[in-house]
Amino acid sequence: MEITVLGTASIGGVPEWDCTCPNCATARRDPSLRRTRSSIAVTDDEDRYVLIDAGHDLKTQLETHGLTPRPERAGKTHRESRLDSVFLTHGHADHTVGVAEFCTGKSFELPLYGPPDLVDFLFGSEEDPNFFGELGRLARDYVKPVKLLAGETVTRLGGVEIKGFEVRHTQVLSGGRRYPSSTYAYEISQSGGRAVYAPDIGLLDEAVLSRLEGADVFLVDATFWWDDELQRISGIPVTSYQLGHVPQEEALKILSRVDVGRVIYTHFNHTNPVLDEKQPYREMVETAGQENAFDGMKIRV
Ligand SMILES: [Zn+2]
Ligand SMILES: [Zn+2]
Ligand SMILES: [Zn+2]
Repeated sequence: MEITVLGTASIGGVPEWDCTCPNCATARRDPSLRRTRSSIAVTDDEDRYVLIDAGHDLKTQLETHGLTPRPERAGKTHRESRLDSVFLTHGHADHTVGVAEFCTGKSFELPLYGPPDLVDFLFGSEEDPNFFGELGRLARDYVKPVKLLAGETVTRLGGVEIKGFEVRHTQVLSGGRRYPSSTYAYEISQSGGRAVYAPDIGLLDEAVLSRLEGADVFLVDATFWWDDELQRISGIPVTSYQLGHVPQEEALKILSRVDVGRVIYTHFNHTNPVLDEKQPYREMVETAGQENAFDGMKIRV
């Protein structure tokens, strides 16, 4: 199978709309350094794709990377979905607002999987609908939400197996409920090849590391390099761990000890100094034998 990395930024993208920090200023001058919100598309035939996460940039990403309808396949209705299904990791906007794009195409009834509390949060029920309860006005079921239990395996495409497992990331409210939802990482396997996608993860403990053993690829959260990065760059007294992200400098050390084929970082915040070529951090990633993803990166598994 092949993974196309559609986007590699955290919630604001790079540059952020209102920011003049060095990374944003450089990316504003040089379009090749811009990053869209994190998302991946998985295929085993380059015909149909499984999308994981749908953020603000979804439509641009589909157009840029050629996941577009083909006139010869579209037929009389002029429509074809290159997406086989959608899997969502959690309820933050950079992973879900792109669902609003599926407000057309009435015949597709696109299967959309996510943690049960996320499906409730986004769609609600027929009697008590939530924000995406009525995506478009011409049909009822533009998408078919499916509550995916942790550990349950779904087979899509020509035998690509996808399984979600819960990771620490979102806020825990006083009653114990996770807000806006719990968070999954996804294990994607086919013919002995296995990738794990965890764009937002706040703890790399033994439970997570044991799942990575023997995996070919781990695509993982690199929102911040330092735990106190927002304090250093933006003067905001909130840490990476408080926001549910393992800092990249710590992930680099932890993952150096794990038997995984390729460690590839994604979900970069505009403040992460690893984005700046002049700083030493990029070289530290390379020296550790690890990689930073870029928009449009192709990964064979
Ligand atoms: Zn995110
Ligand atoms: Zn910035
Ligand atoms: Zn998040």
